[in-house]
Amino acid sequence: MHIAIIGAGLAGVSAAWYLRQAGHEITVIERDAAPALETSFANGGQISISHPEPWSNPGAPMQVLRWLGKKDAPLLFRWPAEMARIRWGIEFLLECLPGRSRANTLAIAHLAAYSGQRLKALREEVGIEYDQLARGVLHLYFSPEALLHGAQQQRVLRELGIGAEMLSPDACVALEPALTGLAPRLSGAMLGSDDESGDAQRFTSALAQRCREAGCRFLFDTTVTGIEADNQRIGGLRVSKPGEMPYLHQADAYVLAAGSYSTPLMHPLGERLPIYPVKGYSATLALRDAARAPSTSLTDESRRIVCSRLGDQLRIAGTAELNGYNLDLDADRCSALLRWAEDMFPGVCDTEDPHFWAGLRPTTPSNLPIIGRSRFANLYYNTGHGTLGWTLACGSAQALANIVDDTAPDVDFPFLRA
Ligand SMILES: Cc1cc2nc3c(=O)[nH]c(=O)nc-3n(C[C@H](O)[C@H](O)[C@H](O)COP(=O)(O)OP(=O)(O)OC[C@H]3O[C@@H](n4cnc5c(N)ncnc54)[C@H](O)[C@@H]3O)c2cc1C
Repeated sequence: MHIAIIGAGLAGVSAAWYLRQAGHEITVIERDAAPALETSFANGGQISISHPEPWSNPGAPMQVLRWLGKKDAPLLFRWPAEMARIRWGIEFLLECLPGRSRANTLAIAHLAAYSGQRLKALREEVGIEYDQLARGVLHLYFSPEALLHGAQQQRVLRELGIGAEMLSPDACVALEPALTGLAPRLSGAMLGSDDESGDAQRFTSALAQRCREAGCRFLFDTTVTGIEADNQRIGGLRVSKPGEMPYLHQADAYVLAAGSYSTPLMHPLGERLPIYPVKGYSATLALRDAARAPSTSLTDESRRIVCSRLGDQLRIAGTAELNGYNLDLDADRCSALLRWAEDMFPGVCDTEDPHFWAGLRPTTPSNLPIIGRSRFANLYYNTGHGTLGWTLACGSAQALANIVDDTAPDVDFPFLRA
């Protein structure tokens, strides 16, 4: 079957790989000049199987209220808000109900664990390099209450068979000597021992190259401007490329993997995908003192900031801002990332020459990605991966390939119409 995939980010390129492995003829259509130049470009780098709890959890509403009015708050809901943002906010609150949040956590945990296995298998099979480190993720807790919450999370993870271990501050230092100066402030940590880290953009580019070698076609600088459909089927994609006449790209089936832009593409067809672009920031810093820099990926649970070692750089990422498709870099949010780096690891990074970046997480209220069949017989979704698109990429794409081929995915997850 000839399948056209919209988008060459983590979701689109991974889908191309697994669908090609299943024997399909693949064309990937991407408006940028290369893969992974949008949200998959400079994310936090974590394969974070040990963090399945969505933002929409029972503690979130109070937390958001406490952050109100703070310019560098980890989560910021900017006003005035358009209808889509208000609607998304209400749905987010509903997903914070304990029963909903528990079900969402379980579903994400299953898909994340499966995805971790698929990533390892793929790496062994194709041998790609992307500054990967399999040293786990350390979740750092700076208060006894946060440590208690971490211990509850750890029990849930262990019941699910996901590697998670509570560590004292001394044990953290033994594992990651870069934390020596921080130990007196730490209450403890949880080590997600199945977790990894690596550069998502390098991964996506390398996998796209392998896809090409395997026979996939990539159309870059090519924008899908609309989708032609009747009530039952997609008839083609209206595409345009600078310097060429617009035309209709036709295939047997289509996969929507356009990240945050999946919503506006489906809107004219009367489909409302509950995906909102949630802006996040990262700072990539060269190392002044590599020996004192962490190589275990870290999550500061108090400030919701993650940090990953990518070769001779440190990537620091975080913050969530609901402000439409705006990609401006807010000075307060950028400097909060630099302050974090100096506070945690004084003198280790070159904070004078930071590389700031912002990306739009394609986020559903539940943080569950939308994977599976649409109401159109020949259109599939692989989108809405929110905060975990790197963690969930390989598992989502393998499951999608199974769904396209009418076989049951090997993972317990609420796939759409599968
Ligand atoms: C600050 C930050 C930190 C993060 N940290 C982590 C982390 O540590 N771990 C983790 O698992 N996840 C993390 N994420 C989330 C992860 O990066 C995203 O979930 C993931 O990149 C989404 O991938 P995607 O392929 O769906 O979207 P994208 O990467 O945005 O890809 C979509 C592609 O579709 C293309 N496109 C859109 N519309 C069209 C069109 N009309 N025509 C043609 N092409 C089109 C775009 O150009 C783009 O290339 C983070 C995100 C951010 C912002």
